[in-house]
Amino acid sequence: MYKNFRIADELVRKTEEAELAVQQQFREIDKVCEFNSLKVLQAFHKYQISEVHFNSTTGYGYNDIGRDTIEKVFAEVLGSEDALVRGQFISGTHALTVTLFALLRPGDLLLSITGKPYDTLDEVIGIKENASSLKSFGVKYDQIDLIDDDFDYEKIITYLKNNKVKVIEIQRSKGYSTRKSITIEQVEKVIKKIREVDQDVIVMIDNCYCEFVGTKEPTEVGADIMVGSLIKNLGGGIAPNGAYVAGHNDLIELVAERLTAPGEGREVGPTLGINKLFLQGLFFAPSVVASSLKTAVLASKLLEDMGYEVEPKYHDVRADIVQNIVFRDKEKLIRYCQGIQMASPIDSHAIPEAWDMPGYTDQVIMAAGCFTQGSSIELSCDGPIRAPYIAYMQGGLTYPYGKIGVMKAVQQLLQE
Ligand SMILES: *Cc1c(COP(=O)(O)O)cnc(C)c1O
Repeated sequence: MYKNFRIADELVRKTEEAELAVQQQFREIDKVCEFNSLKVLQAFHKYQISEVHFNSTTGYGYNDIGRDTIEKVFAEVLGSEDALVRGQFISGTHALTVTLFALLRPGDLLLSITGKPYDTLDEVIGIKENASSLKSFGVKYDQIDLIDDDFDYEKIITYLKNNKVKVIEIQRSKGYSTRKSITIEQVEKVIKKIREVDQDVIVMIDNCYCEFVGTKEPTEVGADIMVGSLIKNLGGGIAPNGAYVAGHNDLIELVAERLTAPGEGREVGPTLGINKLFLQGLFFAPSVVASSLKTAVLASKLLEDMGYEVEPKYHDVRADIVQNIVFRDKEKLIRYCQGIQMASPIDSHAIPEAWDMPGYTDQVIMAAGCFTQGSSIELSCDGPIRAPYIAYMQGGLTYPYGKIGVMKAVQQLLQE
């Protein structure tokens, strides 16, 4: 069969070797998957999920029992007081935007303690000029960079002693940066330190790509509110769009009032047939995240064996599902992404090229042959066309498909 895919025998052998070498990591991933599956199932049982919850509403979407129960299930799974889980959130960026606008008022100060946030937030915050940014409403912004892939604790504490900060943002996943992603232990430690000097500041987490990678979520270790996309981890590859925001009830109410309208809040929002997909997606999510992690671990080992620089390494503790491969060569980055596309179920005949995407400074290449447009819980790979030419690979609905994708991408690398 691999011959049909023009994957060389030698590569099949090398991949099998790599796979053998990562069995311990796979076992650990399976354990986490089992734990999170128990978490999900327990929440389904607690709220007695039934066929009635697969209902659909239209128009205003009043009295949507499925939607309201799904939000309770998400809150339970994430160990938070409350959650808002809606298809009206277009994406993670939109949910982050609504949350920031919900929590911040003119004159308030937003502080990022993981350096510059994800690229698409530049115009939301006003780092890059936009007439509708938080800055245009008089919301101030400052950031403290990480040092050696950890929080700059001293600087954060001094800053909080000297400034009244309304919201602290922590972005766990690395985005298009070269830093490492932030583990749950790091999140827990920094929140403890923050609380020693400031009990009021709202700690908000961008949790994109991190859900179910470990056994705890940020709201279980002291975060006030967190945000994630449903076309990433918690959608399980089934949710066709949407995002969640989870945290303290009073904050979630503010987010709901901003998402819809003050006075209407969470009471409105038609589900248009999405309820069953959200539930099914959450049900699959622990296994899909596990498949993504195994795909990433295999790629890490195989490419390291071939002499490439990778981050994380196959035996590193992972905080998210993203695997970096540092190519230091533009053509190699492009060929690797093209190989991922070639092994995709959808649009396998398309050849991705680098282009000027809105919201990004450099050209970006993106391979995503997905059932859901832009879904990156499905095997996908992208990277900005700038030195050192790093591929950011993530997703994999099942491990076999993930493995085939990695092999095809590596084969493209080898084909000069
Ligand atoms: C994906 C992502 C976002 C936003 O994603 P959308 O593509 O808008 O859903 C924000 N932050 C991080 C760290 C991400 O990985």
